[in-house]
Amino acid sequence: MNIETQVLHEGYTPKNGEPRVMPIYQSTTYVYDSTDAVADVFDDPTLGMIYSRFENPTTDAVEKKIAALEGGAAAMCTSSGQAASMLSILNLCDAGDHFISSSSIYGGTVNLFAFTFKKMGIECTFVDVDASEEEIKAAIRPNTKCVFGETIANPALTVLDIEKWARAAHSAGIPLIVDNTFATPILCRPIEWGADIVVHSTSKYMDGHAVQVGGVIVDSGKFDWTKSGRFPGLTEPDESYHGIVYTEKYPVPYITKARMQLMRDFGCYPAANSSFLLNLGLETLAVRMPRYCENGLKVAKYIEGTGKIESIKYAGLESDKHHKLAEKYLPDGCCGVISFSVGTRERAVKFMDALKLASNEVHVADIRTCVLNPASATHRQLTDEQLVAAGIDPGLIRLSVGLENVDDIIADLEQAFAQI
Ligand SMILES: *Cc1c(COP(=O)(O)O)cnc(C)c1O
Repeated sequence: MNIETQVLHEGYTPKNGEPRVMPIYQSTTYVYDSTDAVADVFDDPTLGMIYSRFENPTTDAVEKKIAALEGGAAAMCTSSGQAASMLSILNLCDAGDHFISSSSIYGGTVNLFAFTFKKMGIECTFVDVDASEEEIKAAIRPNTKCVFGETIANPALTVLDIEKWARAAHSAGIPLIVDNTFATPILCRPIEWGADIVVHSTSKYMDGHAVQVGGVIVDSGKFDWTKSGRFPGLTEPDESYHGIVYTEKYPVPYITKARMQLMRDFGCYPAANSSFLLNLGLETLAVRMPRYCENGLKVAKYIEGTGKIESIKYAGLESDKHHKLAEKYLPDGCCGVISFSVGTRERAVKFMDALKLASNEVHVADIRTCVLNPASATHRQLTDEQLVAAGIDPGLIRLSVGLENVDDIIADLEQAFAQI
């Protein structure tokens, strides 16, 4: 099936007389005929559902759909994008371990990697997104367990050279994990370029309507965990799970371990109702993404031509530093998110307060156009000097172009630019 068909039909196929739409299985638990039958699913959880702290039929259908869209073997949903990033790393790293991340990633992920993981004894080295293969390899240590990057980074909007990062990781027998939130599998499927694990915040384009926070981890099923000897958690008996060896017992060991060990223990699993809403968003993803890209490019070209900005970042623009990489990895477009600077915090605030259609909100990839000035919102405790030191331009505006008629979006921007 082509991806436009997959978004509608993967994950759930009703049999004779069954509901057309995947129902909301609002149940914490599942009934079996005998104690023996319960024992069987404990021995092999792939045989049936046990408990909704880590699996549920409604969520299972969405997991199968997203795995298919990304070209992966299996997926596990989580209650947020942050939970997906966290578990994707904790599934490989224990206290004393190390991993590498592109420095161009989502701010929430930076906090998780640089501060929270550090408290847990896991160290992250940040490497420039445009580093050479040799520079990435030079950061790999004997205790390095994986490499992480974002296809289109939020909010830096850089483009990851997935093949290069995958080559560097694979040279040491470690996997590449890619956060594909902004691209979605409609614009880029990182597994096709060598990524081994893909994560998403489904709160963004996948849900699409700003109704449900969620995340997902997709396992390509292709990585050989036994070869490098770096992953005893996968290749040696799990004492907490009657001594099974994930790589011996399961065809997709990474995601099975993430579910049966980490999700079992942490329980950050979405509710069935959340997965039902996510599925509605996914059903129109293939129709929505091309329109975001079309509107995004038109708006980026308009902003670039106003003469009222200091800089703009949108990889779809020919002048953009990452345009060549975008042509390779994102041939169908670069999503609807644009970053630009109007110079100062004061000008940014004045501009944003003048907007009538675009809403001021702490979100991105909403179906409606929205804006955020990090200096006056998420980073408002910092002085201008501190912002610059953190690599954030006080006048930076992140504009998330929605699905309104693009002429209305541009007219709104035009009247706001006229006021600064
Ligand atoms: C929003 C976001 C996250 C975090 O996801 P939540 O669903 O908000 O927890 C992670 N990565 C990227 C690229 C994001 O944009």
